[in-house]
Amino acid sequence: MSTQKKRVPAIEGWFVADGTVALLGSQCTSCRSYFFPKESFFCRNPACQGTEFEEVPLSRRGTLWSYTNNAYPPPAPYVAPDPFVPYIVAAVELGTEKMVVLGQVVKGFEIADLRVGMEMELELDTLFEDAENEYLVWKWRPVGTRGGA
Ligand SMILES: [Zn+2]
Repeated sequence: MSTQKKRVPAIEGWFVADGTVALLGSQCTSCRSYFFPKESFFCRNPACQGTEFEEVPLSRRGTLWSYTNNAYPPPAPYVAPDPFVPYIVAAVELGTEKMVVLGQVVKGFEIADLRVGMEMELELDTLFEDAENEYLVWKWRPVGTRGGA
């Protein structure tokens, strides 16, 4: 007996989800640098005076750069469920943009399952839920482990 909950992003405007999930970054129109979360005012490239940005979907795959157990709730604007459940956080370097994006690793993986240099892909998952909504967020999954029994 489950009523259909509404699936909504836990953080508005950080990703698009229509079947697959893609993070939304911004790209400086002057130097073409990518930023995530989106940059809207000043380019962070010290050699660039750019102030205009385009919203762009970022690569869905990247290389595992670093990872750790996260035993404490992350700072805002990251959203954490309450009560807090420890999880693995992965820093993944996106293939095209060469920028590092943090995210939780999907449930079912241990630190021992991961190694630097692994190919990772984005997956949409529930971060937490309340009576009406499921709040969705991106997570990282090692490539080739989707749908395993
Ligand atoms: Zn720039």
